[in-house]
Amino acid sequence: MGLNFYSLSSGSSGNCYYLGNGFHGILIDAGISAGSVRKFLKKMDIPMQNIIGVLITHNHIDHIKGLEGLTGKNSIPAFTTGKIWGSILTPKKKIPIDCIREIPLQQKFHLAGFGIEAFPVSHDAPETIGFHICAVDKKITIVTDLGHICKTAAVYIKSANLLVIESNYDERMLVNGKYPNFLKTRILSDHGHLGNHQTADFLAENINDNLSHICLAHLSRNNNTPEIALQTIHQAFLKKGITLNGHQRISVLNRSTPTNILSSVEKEYPLQSELDFH
Ligand SMILES: [Zn+2]
Ligand SMILES: [Zn+2]
Repeated sequence: MGLNFYSLSSGSSGNCYYLGNGFHGILIDAGISAGSVRKFLKKMDIPMQNIIGVLITHNHIDHIKGLEGLTGKNSIPAFTTGKIWGSILTPKKKIPIDCIREIPLQQKFHLAGFGIEAFPVSHDAPETIGFHICAVDKKITIVTDLGHICKTAAVYIKSANLLVIESNYDERMLVNGKYPNFLKTRILSDHGHLGNHQTADFLAENINDNLSHICLAHLSRNNNTPEIALQTIHQAFLKKGITLNGHQRISVLNRSTPTNILSSVEKEYPLQSELDFH
């Protein structure tokens, strides 16, 4: 059994990932409209009915913009902690009650054949989580909105084979840029976002042979470029004398167009044909 893993969008204009194993798929975050998800999946020949859940990291709009459409029109259940549900559910947010699924922190649960664990990260929302997913032969960690890497998050990051990690801003561009001071302070704080150097230094300190693919995610449109983010990592590695082995690679996820991260399933089977087969 193989895996398909796509980033549909990664950045402040919307975050959404698709992870499928040829039979079922899940989404991680719903920061783009249900229509955009459907359009992308159609292109990839994946029926919307294959998606049996969407995992939500926190209540910021770039992570939940499509949540009402996915749960309402498409009846896809959504999974996050009770505290995050508390911050999402307002009288204006219409989420069908049977699509609201509460998950614990740091306790594995199973969905679509994946073992999934949510872990807390430091960010300026009532609660924010990252996900560690055991999928077929890969351990995937997705951690995209955090001001610093705490001890707990570090454990999940270090145990990944495939890592999606935030590299939001170049420090110089942010400090010298046009953002108002309060926003700069917020982004730079321990509850804001990870800058290129924070991510690069952590990776240079913790890279290991099991970590084969690093995807830099949630890049700022105004305060970063893919080239600068990559360069910062390469410089940090160079400084520590680290060279990547032939199986390791680092890439940058597109901000508002899909990125193919991994695709080893030739064709995703429609749910219907799976039922027919049985
Ligand atoms: Zn956020
Ligand atoms: Zn975000």
